[in-house]
Amino acid sequence: MICLTLSDPTLEECVKTTQKNRAWIEAVELRLDYLTPEERENACRFPSMVEIPVICTHRRVQDGGKFSGSEKQRKAELLKALDGNFAYVDIEEDVKKCELDEKARSKGIKIIRSYHDFSGIPNDIYSRVLTLKKRGDIAKIAVTPQGILDTITLFNAEKELKDVPKIIIGMGPYGVATRILYRRMGSILTFASDSEAAPGQLKARDLKELYHADEVNERTAIYGIIGNPVNHSASPLIHNPGFRAIKYNAIYVPFLVDNARAFFALAENLRMRGFSVTVPHKVEVLSYLGNITREVKQIGSCNTVVRTPGLWKGMNTDYYGFLIPILPDIESGRIKNALVIGAGGASYAIVWALRNWGVKVTILNRTLSHAEKIAKINICSFDSLENAANYEGQVDLIVQTTSVGLNTFESPIEGFRFTGKEIAYDIVYKPHMTKFLSDAKAAGCTLHFGDEMLFEQGKLQFEAFTGYHYPRNLKPEL
Ligand code: NAP
Repeated sequence: MICLTLSDPTLEECVKTTQKNRAWIEAVELRLDYLTPEERENACRFPSMVEIPVICTHRRVQDGGKFSGSEKQRKAELLKALDGNFAYVDIEEDVKKCELDEKARSKGIKIIRSYHDFSGIPNDIYSRVLTLKKRGDIAKIAVTPQGILDTITLFNAEKELKDVPKIIIGMGPYGVATRILYRRMGSILTFASDSEAAPGQLKARDLKELYHADEVNERTAIYGIIGNPVNHSASPLIHNPGFRAIKYNAIYVPFLVDNARAFFALAENLRMRGFSVTVPHKVEVLSYLGNITREVKQIGSCNTVVRTPGLWKGMNTDYYGFLIPILPDIESGRIKNALVIGAGGASYAIVWALRNWGVKVTILNRTLSHAEKIAKINICSFDSLENAANYEGQVDLIVQTTSVGLNTFESPIEGFRFTGKEIAYDIVYKPHMTKFLSDAKAAGCTLHFGDEMLFEQGKLQFEAFTGYHYPRNLKPEL
């Protein structure tokens, strides 16, 4: 089930939020601690106001909720709420058996016994689940993985606790993959919310329409993207609709990864078929690959890993992904020389692609030694970013590859005078129109956007993952 956590202050508003999300959810959790004290008095009415199973929860501050009154008051409010036809009630681990349990039992309300940890995961997590289960109908454990090793522990719950009715939640950024792949942990539900009532919660619409999280089964092929940060990635918007369109039972999930080596262990556990790689793991993954393509060997970085019999194979689709939008201009001779701004991970593939197609390149970078390193490998020129004005009117193509302009309206070459004859290409894709491109547009330049490269490299990854061309009629909004 996808269960929506309601965090509105009134019952009326909770009904509206339920209705708004109705197409994507199978249950809701009414949080008494978010209701005003007056509304809490009438919480028992709520189940009859919505036609969907409701979990009744009254969370204390120490468990991540908002209730800060006395325990006596909290229990009394919960007890009163249970006059209503709730399907479940959430009672925390440390609350001793009391009238709440008796009332829930007499009304056929299932008891969820819950444990929360906002700073990590307990060493005895599996035995804790078993203890919780003994004291209720369903054990719920909401913990905060601190790295990919903790994420592995959560995914192992399915093996360790088979057939135990349970809800397992990984909170925080390392838990996002567990919220999407909840069925692979044997969890009976995942929580969604409109307002991130708990850290890392996703929107119900994304869980249902983008990931189809509730349809994952043991035959679902798992793909993903690893990076740090990664939860902002637009790649799930490319791959998930693509899998759907070719009727492939597969899912593509973001994995926040602090340690590439540990991730390969998780990838084996989940029998993953492939994954994309982004900053900062594009070089680190090379040590764990059994086979690499010529591009990976020459560029020295890998953005795509696929499972082949017995080993992981590394590829680099940034190379062609970058090249495809401008290839006609290179082939026609319109692009003969280029300025590449930036000397980070992406720049390696871009400079190599341009040099491979005979384009003369100068790399400009803030840190000169980084530019020098790439220039030496590719036999091209390099200079300091401060000297950008010296190249005005000298080049056919200017590629912006720094992270300047990502989510801000800034250009790394502020004040650069474009002649209007250049082709300007920014690989940053958020926002679509960066300051760099906006300046180039004002001068009349031809523009290429970061989402063009993102989509092209994603389509090539899709082919590597599935063996099928990306569906022609699909144009994801990135
Ligand atoms: P990276 O390895 O971290 O490199 C960052 C680059 O930006 C370096 O050259 C760095 O210069 C420069 N830089 C950072 N802050 C700067 C500042 N304040 N002033 C001047 N230069 C600065 O990152 P990357 O992997 O190359 O990625 C760069 C950008 O490209 C990211 O925004 C990423 O999202 C985007 N990207 C897009 C695609 C796509 O498909 N469209 C693919 C890959 C990457 P120093 O060397 O001096 O530190």
